Amino acid sequence: MADLRPNPPNKMTDRSPAENHAGGQRLTAMLPHQAVNWSALRQDFPILDQQVHGHPLIYFDNAATSQKPRMVLDALLHYYERDNANVHRGIHELSNRATAAFEAARVRAAKFLNARSADEIIFTRGTTEGINLVAAAWGPKFIQRGDKILLTEMEHHSNIVPWQLLAERTGAQLAFLPINGDRGLLDPGRLDEFLTSDVKLLAMTHISNSLGTINPVAEYCERARRRGIVTLIDAAQSAGHGPLDVQEIGCDFLAFSAHKMCGPTGFGVLYGRGERLAETPPYQGGGEMILSVDFQQSTWKPAPHRFEAGTPDISGAIALHAAMDYLDGIGRGNIAHHDQELGAYAFEQLSALPGIRLFGPTMGRAGLVSFLLDGIHAHDVVTVADRSGVALRGGHHCNQPLMKRLGVESTARASFYFYNTTAEIDRFVEVIREIQMFFGK
Ligand code: PMP
Repeated sequence: MADLRPNPPNKMTDRSPAENHAGGQRLTAMLPHQAVNWSALRQDFPILDQQVHGHPLIYFDNAATSQKPRMVLDALLHYYERDNANVHRGIHELSNRATAAFEAARVRAAKFLNARSADEIIFTRGTTEGINLVAAAWGPKFIQRGDKILLTEMEHHSNIVPWQLLAERTGAQLAFLPINGDRGLLDPGRLDEFLTSDVKLLAMTHISNSLGTINPVAEYCERARRRGIVTLIDAAQSAGHGPLDVQEIGCDFLAFSAHKMCGPTGFGVLYGRGERLAETPPYQGGGEMILSVDFQQSTWKPAPHRFEAGTPDISGAIALHAAMDYLDGIGRGNIAHHDQELGAYAFEQLSALPGIRLFGPTMGRAGLVSFLLDGIHAHDVVTVADRSGVALRGGHHCNQPLMKRLGVESTARASFYFYNTTAEIDRFVEVIREIQMFFGK
């Protein structure tokens, strides 16, 4: 882990935290921003030190997946070099070590989320599988014909399609909390209108991957819960970008992916409140999740093992453990602050350009910006930016309904993480200007 000695003062760290509650939300109460040597942290990420098409890599595709620090790569390598064995089965030394490390990751994830117990932590393949698990296992038992599942207009396909499948199976309906146009904010004042007696579930994103909106999820969960509505939070874009406390949020379920927070791909966590998991039947059948199996029927283990059929991704859990330690070593409050400063800085710099349409809140936004340049397709922006070493993303970002709502097909997106710098944003803005000129704009 890099030395975290304070940085010399710079443009970003010097700025007092903006009083920017007017737009979206902050991920943290405004904790004092501790000095972190952000540029030293970059050295923990070997991948960042390379040239792309003859230019230093500027990696601004962190909302799609983050890069991995040496500490996480080392944890993976160590596991496969020293401890690899199947878990919960053997009674030999390596199996015991692998099992201990796998279960230690569960305890660590519970601590990371401030869950009441490690039994509330289910290991999954990622956010998508976590949501599918709830929709496929909890859903059919508790959602019936005539019930409503309430989502928002800014949901990722992962938090829409599983509910559409459930609605098809059960005859339930989907409803959507509206956003206020390009600024992409929900209106808490209208929530009661949507929390009707037929709503059984509220499933919403914490941070929008296209808009950068930070939703006040604790307030939404509290108001839903008062009416007996079960809540699920998609924390794909917030886990690893700031403190995350399931008790403070008050949700019933919360899903995230390891790969967006310095961990490995194909791994994630579903938090489920104890009472909810106790009433939820199995998701998949197979080894590991049973107490006993007969030719005709079987009995299940309690949560979380009931939901983890088959050999799990053991190395994934171990690497996620390392990622959580790494992030907490920096301080998630510090990361949230830094991320949001980068988001605000980029938004401000891009706003000064001619011929640009920016999406998402003007203030209180997460560390990402989505935009369109007049007369230039988002894919062209991304393709040309890549020639200058700038990795962006262009497309619908798995937000097709949101894109329809905004009246666009796609956007270009730059998404930041704590290892990014204002100097990179300055270069990116210069590249955007060059692209406009290249296309004669
Ligand atoms: N929800 C949101 C808000 C996301 O940004 C993403 C990833 N783009 C997902 C869900 C799905 O995550 P994964 O593909 O890791 O399951």
